[in-house]
Amino acid sequence: MKQNLISTTLAVLFAVGTVHAAEPIWDGNKVQMVSEKLGDGTYAFYADNARELNAKGGAAATSGGLIVGSKGALLVETMLNQRLNTQVQALSQKLGKKPLLYAVNTSAHGDHAYGNMYLPAATVVVQHAHTRRYMDHHLADDKAFMIKHFGTGRGIEEIKARTGDVLVPAGGTVSLDLGGKTVDVMDFGFAQTGGDLWVWEPQAKVLWAGNAIIASKPALPWLLDGKLEATLATLRRVYDFLPADARIVPGHGVPLVKEDLKWHIDYLATVHAQVKAAVAQGLSLEQTVKQVAMPEFAGYALFGWVHPGLNVPAAYKDLSAR
Ligand SMILES: [Zn+2]
Repeated sequence: MKQNLISTTLAVLFAVGTVHAAEPIWDGNKVQMVSEKLGDGTYAFYADNARELNAKGGAAATSGGLIVGSKGALLVETMLNQRLNTQVQALSQKLGKKPLLYAVNTSAHGDHAYGNMYLPAATVVVQHAHTRRYMDHHLADDKAFMIKHFGTGRGIEEIKARTGDVLVPAGGTVSLDLGGKTVDVMDFGFAQTGGDLWVWEPQAKVLWAGNAIIASKPALPWLLDGKLEATLATLRRVYDFLPADARIVPGHGVPLVKEDLKWHIDYLATVHAQVKAAVAQGLSLEQTVKQVAMPEFAGYALFGWVHPGLNVPAAYKDLSAR
């Protein structure tokens, strides 16, 4: 279902000429990861061009980070391939000077989890139970999909599954002691894949969001697996959870502040209200896509695909199914 939806919507994307079919969305052989200190022993990792791409609504590579305690460190996201995993391990060594006790994947998406196999054998991999089930059963299909959109020769062919040693159950939290610092790995509910984890560092007040928050405005959520109402409810729970001065490391960009979340929540709430009205008027999907144009939320390079090709159809399917 997800694969079909992505293939169809990417076909739309290519048809409108936003990207060339032969070009990856971003190139795993070229991305250079940098770090930003957010607190004592707390760092965001992102691509060196992420700030510039985020500002103009472009698509940046995967972000992650590092949390260091007195006993050891926790890596957030293991990246797409060996090359990028080596970069984040090198940053971790340089900044942390501690063994990597844990690595967390915020979802099963390959750009967040394929690098697990390159971690030291002693590092404990933390995943959502749903993510582990998905990787155990769908890795071959997932790699084919990722090669299609991120290119051959980007180190995806050689990926083998290394799945979670510690699993976060649905709706649960796992607290990890790094020595003088406890980190919470949390499930706030369905956010994009059903295996969505958030990493909360309470001392520096930093939350890693994974793909549930792609990047700051004008980037938008991608309802790849539908569930508009559940996703909206989850983002509202996250907003309510965060203290006013919290920062958020998104899945593909530089850190945001709490109030930046409002853009994503307002967008989904507007899609919800307008698609609901269209369904009540008895409009077809095609008519709904035309009526729910929402140009006030344009600006994201992928808007022409994500909004009419993915999010409005997902919302229509959800809201007309009752
Ligand atoms: Zn991603």
